[in-house]
Amino acid sequence: MLRKWVVVHHTLFPTLDELGPAAGESLLEWEVARRVYCAACRAPVSDEDQRINYGGAHVHRFENPQGLRFRIGCFADAPGCVSVGPPTLEWTWFAGHAWQVASCRACGAHLGWCYTDGDGGGFYGLILDRLLSSAPP
Ligand SMILES: [Zn+2]
Repeated sequence: MLRKWVVVHHTLFPTLDELGPAAGESLLEWEVARRVYCAACRAPVSDEDQRINYGGAHVHRFENPQGLRFRIGCFADAPGCVSVGPPTLEWTWFAGHAWQVASCRACGAHLGWCYTDGDGGGFYGLILDRLLSSAPP
C-alpha cells in the first residue's frame, strides 16, 4: 500500500485520520495500520496520531551513560506502556523532564521512557527499533 506523507500541522507525521484509508485499503486494515505495536509481542502500544514533535523533531538520538545508543520517537501518549520506578531528573535527555522507564504493558519489554515536567505535562520517548509501525522511521 502506498501512502502520501505530507506536512500537516507542523509535523512530518499527519494523523491517519486526516489521510484516511489508502487506495484499496479496507476500514479495518486502516484501523490496524493506525496503531504502533510492541515489536516483541505485537501488543498495541500507541497510535500513529500520537506521534508528536519535541524541540522541532519527532525522532531524537541519544546515548546513555553506559554508551548505549537509542533512536527514539516522541508520542503524546502510549496506553500500552507502564511506567516503572520513581521519576528522576538524573541524566535526563529532555531538560526539565523527569523520566521513568516505560515497559510494554503486555510483555514487559523495555520500550522507552515516560517524561514528565512536574507540571502535569509529559510525553513518551519510545525506542523506534522496538516498535512495529506502518509509518516511515
Ligand atoms: Zn510487548
